[in-house]
Amino acid sequence: MHATRQRLVQVFVLLALLVTPWAVQAKSEHQIYFKGTDYELHVFEIIGDYPGNTLLIIGGMHNEPGGYLSADLYADLSLRQGRLIVVPRANFPAIVSNDRKVHSDMNRKFVNGNGNKHQNHKKEEYEEAVVAILMELMARSDALLNLHDGSGFFRPKYIDKWRNPLRWGQSIISDTDLHVTKDGRTLNMKDRIDRVIGTVNLQIEDQEHHFFHNNTRTFEDDSPHKEQRGSATYYALTEYGIESYGVETSKSIKSLDLKVEYQSMIINAFMSEYNIVPKNPKVSIKDPHLEYLLVSVNGSFPYGIPDSKTLYVNPGDSIRIEHIAANYERGLLADIKGVGSLNDMNKEFVVSRPSTILVKKDKFEAGKIFVDINKSDKPLSVQAARQESGMKFLILVNNEERTIPSGNTLEITPSDIITVQDVFPVHGDASDLRVNFVGFVGNKAYNDAEDRGYRIRSSKLWKRHSLDKKGGIYRVEARLRERSVGEMFVRIVQPTLNP
Ligand SMILES: [Zn+2]
Repeated sequence: MHATRQRLVQVFVLLALLVTPWAVQAKSEHQIYFKGTDYELHVFEIIGDYPGNTLLIIGGMHNEPGGYLSADLYADLSLRQGRLIVVPRANFPAIVSNDRKVHSDMNRKFVNGNGNKHQNHKKEEYEEAVVAILMELMARSDALLNLHDGSGFFRPKYIDKWRNPLRWGQSIISDTDLHVTKDGRTLNMKDRIDRVIGTVNLQIEDQEHHFFHNNTRTFEDDSPHKEQRGSATYYALTEYGIESYGVETSKSIKSLDLKVEYQSMIINAFMSEYNIVPKNPKVSIKDPHLEYLLVSVNGSFPYGIPDSKTLYVNPGDSIRIEHIAANYERGLLADIKGVGSLNDMNKEFVVSRPSTILVKKDKFEAGKIFVDINKSDKPLSVQAARQESGMKFLILVNNEERTIPSGNTLEITPSDIITVQDVFPVHGDASDLRVNFVGFVGNKAYNDAEDRGYRIRSSKLWKRHSLDKKGGIYRVEARLRERSVGEMFVRIVQPTLNP
């Protein structure tokens, strides 16, 4: 930051202190441009406790996940000093459709004249409207990082097809080494990049992944990259006189985690260069919340009992708590009140009276479910539990869709054609399950017990596999590997002519 700007900031902060003492608290702001459109633009501004330089981080001008996923991590940061303006997804339509560009390459649109496209609504292309906002953000910043994934590996000397001076991956790009701004300041981008690369390469074990400085010599007549004259970095440098860098991880590095790790190493090194000091990590302790408990009854498949629901059992039934699904994975326990010990997970208990299972995360209550004795004279304990499991079956009867909760019975007539369209488990993914219409074989060559999608006529069912052995009622079962996790029944009834 140059001196005038620094003084301005100090004056502003002093004023803020006098007028609104809370204004200097570290905070962050989230602004949404073009709300409701496909190209909605989210801008996060993180303001440190103490004033300092402003670094603008732009990701996602292209469909390059190393760039936009890394930028996204910084939207949640808190700062001790300085300021970050983070635009994780500059070109959301390109990201979602996984195309480099939608109308035209956004990173070639930073030319004079596009800056007022936002105000005068002369938007032939949304890209220009977004670029106009990004230009406004540049005007308020002291430096810019434009995050991308590039092909191959940039190397200053030709090694081979994928490692040479015309590749982009694993490089930090500047348009020049030294730049003299309109107001006469000299920006030494080469030295800055050398320091950043020195820091980052020390942390990267794999030599192949080391970063190099890629000076595109954009100003020069014999530049190999004259197209960069339309880029964000060139515009920020020439129009606003701020240091601006492209950061490229390599598309040849397949691990997304690794790319994001490399990008964040570089962002961190630049933040350190500009004295932007994070508070790390940002602490946010969420209240624990139980989603469901998986409880097995008499060794059966476990039922998923959602928070604050009741599991019905018969006196003498034994239960075992197999899993807790909550918004945390660690520090969880389930305590059956009145029996067992502090933690009753994965232990068998015989139930003789109603009880409560308390689920905790450390010392905090996450939720509870109730165990009650089935008082009805119908032996529906298991059925009731299955209904509680919450799974639903989507069935097509002729051409009409029906949703059947687990444990329930669908009645059809012999002439109906039914199709098990899908199942909806309370948790997990329906594609991990197999849905078996017991008594029907869909794939004749290989009975894979997967009967979704077939048009099933009752005349084609195997009566000896029906529950009553007479073809009156069939069972449809959803299984997760070896375990049954839900079931419904199909009863074949003779059509009646009653009005
Ligand atoms: Zn790119």
